[in-house]
Amino acid sequence: MSKTVNIDWKTLGFKYIKTDLRYVARWKEGRWDRGELVEDNTLRISEGSTALHYGQTCFEGLKAYRTKEGKIQLFRPDANARRLQESCRRLLMPEVPMETFIDACMQVVRANEHYVPPYGTGATLYLRPYMIGVGDNIGVAPAPEYIFSVFCIPVGAYFKGGMVPVNFTVSDHDRAAPHGTGAVKVGGNYASSLMPHHLAAEKGFADCIYLDPATRTKIEEVGAANFFGITADETFVTPQSPSILPSITRASLVRVAKDYLGMKAEERDVYIDQLDQFTEAGACGTAAVITPIGGIEYKGQLHVFYSEKEVGPVTKKLYDTLCGIQFGEKEAPEGWIYEVEI
Ligand SMILES: *Cc1c(COP(=O)(O)O)cnc(C)c1O
Repeated sequence: MSKTVNIDWKTLGFKYIKTDLRYVARWKEGRWDRGELVEDNTLRISEGSTALHYGQTCFEGLKAYRTKEGKIQLFRPDANARRLQESCRRLLMPEVPMETFIDACMQVVRANEHYVPPYGTGATLYLRPYMIGVGDNIGVAPAPEYIFSVFCIPVGAYFKGGMVPVNFTVSDHDRAAPHGTGAVKVGGNYASSLMPHHLAAEKGFADCIYLDPATRTKIEEVGAANFFGITADETFVTPQSPSILPSITRASLVRVAKDYLGMKAEERDVYIDQLDQFTEAGACGTAAVITPIGGIEYKGQLHVFYSEKEVGPVTKKLYDTLCGIQFGEKEAPEGWIYEVEI
């Protein structure tokens, strides 16, 4: 290692830190330039940029993990690349080729290698790829130019003293429309989630549950994470809907449940008034992997799953197995791990 940084990996949270280099590529007149690593963490863009006025922005989130042997690996970056392409198609933005996306992530990890936390701390290097519409413009139309960038920040283990369940309340707001943008990771979805989150937090909840926008009877998302429940016969159940953001963590947990833990897995409707079918429940996403759900408040009643204090045994097994794969302790299904050559 060429450089060292003075970071307390054990107390690290999820907070912006300026790391050394980021990848920036620009699209103009129908093509991407070669892209480069730059020190500057600010962008100079036209005041007419569509990203500023009309939300023509999308993003991704994935992590680099340090293994016991000291290697660095990415977890399913091809899935993030494909999902970014879906987001771009939905917002009429140019797609980034899969190889460019993965190569950009690799370059950023390599250039900031000393920020990849050591094995055993639970900390990781979080990568944030994003694309924005830029260039002189005023009408509601696709931008004339685009920036695709990837930056990284070291982030701490989400649960410092072991997994702790948290409670959620059902929001009166919708995050997505039936044929809207719920299934893509685009900026507008998150601007509109700030208020519902704020209202939930004011009532003492970790975040809110969003119901399906058409009938408001089924669970769609848990804040910016997907929902799952475990039934008494150990089936892993996740909701199915065209307005849910397809979580890569969720897809991975389905595979882990089936192939590693011998469970059944189902994607189907999850009615908010039928929560007693689940013995455990959780929220899943890259940031925390799994957040155990203690209880869900709906119409003034708190429905508690396993416990408000302790994580359930199946949730814990799912979490340990997936983390084991991500940190290279357990053998991964073929194609899930991309080693970063240092
Ligand atoms: C990013 C995101 C998730 C989690 O997706 P992962 O690929 O597992 O990180 C879930 N729901 C929403 C709304 C998201 O934005």
